[in-house]
Amino acid sequence: MPEPQPYADRRRTPHIVFLASSGMGHLNPFLRLAAQLSARDCRVSLLTTHPTVSAAEERHVDAFFAAFPGVRRLDIHVPLLDPSELNCADPFFLRFESIRRSAHLLPRVLADASPPVSAAIVDISVASSYLPAVAEMGIPSYILFISCAAMLALCAYFPTYLATKNTSGVGDIDIPGVWTVPKSSVPVVLHDQNQLFAKQFLENGQALPKANGILVNTLHAWEPEALAALNEGKVTPDMPPVLAIGPLLPVPAMSVEGESVSAPFAWLDRQPDRSVVYVGFGNRTGMQAEQIRELGIGLERSGLRFLWVVKSKVVDRAEVEVGLEELLGEEYLAKIKDRGMVVKDWVEQAEILRHRAVGGFLSHCGWNSVVEAALYGVRILGWPMGGDQRVSAEALARGGLGIWVEGWSWQAEEEAEKKLVKGEEISERLKDLMAAEGLRASATTMGAAAADVGGTSYQVLTHFIESLTL
Ligand code: UDP
Ligand code: UDP
Repeated sequence: MPEPQPYADRRRTPHIVFLASSGMGHLNPFLRLAAQLSARDCRVSLLTTHPTVSAAEERHVDAFFAAFPGVRRLDIHVPLLDPSELNCADPFFLRFESIRRSAHLLPRVLADASPPVSAAIVDISVASSYLPAVAEMGIPSYILFISCAAMLALCAYFPTYLATKNTSGVGDIDIPGVWTVPKSSVPVVLHDQNQLFAKQFLENGQALPKANGILVNTLHAWEPEALAALNEGKVTPDMPPVLAIGPLLPVPAMSVEGESVSAPFAWLDRQPDRSVVYVGFGNRTGMQAEQIRELGIGLERSGLRFLWVVKSKVVDRAEVEVGLEELLGEEYLAKIKDRGMVVKDWVEQAEILRHRAVGGFLSHCGWNSVVEAALYGVRILGWPMGGDQRVSAEALARGGLGIWVEGWSWQAEEEAEKKLVKGEEISERLKDLMAAEGLRASATTMGAAAADVGGTSYQVLTHFIESLTL
């Protein structure tokens, strides 16, 4: 008689294919969920697209496969599109479009994947083109939504809003059951329906019902209202189940070649607990030189300790063109050196936010940044600058994770008249943030909810995995 197989071998192991998109804000949550499912006895394959827009994406994909040899690598090459033809200057939106136009490559990739695929997890930015291709193969599909549940609600409601509004242009958007997104917080690109991203956004919103479910990198305790409204059909009646599976944990054991890993940590190790403000604006927000200088003045004036990641270009490959000395001056760097550290490289942000010395975060409110800070109980001063960031800023404020400033410069302003936020103002707000005891307490509570291993998100993910093994 054959030996009985151990339970894990007898049960059908699901094979999940991740279909990722472009930009670190999209890639990081994909890598994090792929790592988690791989650690939970799923077979995992990850489709990556080439070339990548940023060098950071390429490094992280390579490091991921080195750290997880069990994850199967699937690659496709996408054509480069002409920005002028599509009237789109944003390199990441253009790459979304290239990937969206590569859906015809999926049947071969999915058919070759072995064992047969149990489910595909698709990035929201390519949903409307990838979901039909996956469905044609008879494979269930799930969207991984990389922003907050409130933004998902906006994405889901936007087609209805456009069809029923009685004003010209886009105004305040009252999302049923969630909140009213004021016109000034609506992503700037959505005000013009002829923009490439606005078209993608609308089509992806219309495609949501085609997915078997939507996984969101958020926590029930942070966004109870938006999650309830989505799942009760208040936002739109044909919504598939929305599963809060966040916060997705940073991937341990991934050492990424060429990253300036040691310098900030050696410095942080010498600082007192919770004393440092970390300043970073994500992977695709370049700040103008004049604003960089004002921010520098603000940090210096605040008298606080700070670790500041300066980014002056949208794509990291262009960053070598200008040095720190040129942007800030040697005199400034010498003046702040006892209290501040300034870098102009990619840093391991999640590790920084986890460090005991970090107590506050001046952030553009990219949702991954918010999630990473929340996870470690670090309170946020939000300076949203574009895209979904004002919606995320509002979500974080409502969730007790921090505060944000409404009047600071925003993408809608023309480059020529972009408001300069003065150093003095930045300094005052930072001091308020670090002195706000109530906020420190609520951020700590929210962090504790997130760190609850086995909490609501863990259980939701367990059910998700089980549903694929039936
Ligand atoms: N990030 C990082 N180091 C950097 C810049 C960014 O690790 O120097 C990571 C950050 O931790 C986050 C992602 O890149 O996981 C950026 O995503 P987010 O949603 O915060 O903002 P986006 O860059 O998409 O605007
Ligand atoms: N998004 C969406 N529908 C789309 C494409 C994007 O809802 O068709 C969301 C996405 O989750 C993101 C936000 O819109 O949070 C802005 O997209 P972008 O790619 O600019 O995010 P970033 O790269 O700045 O993180």
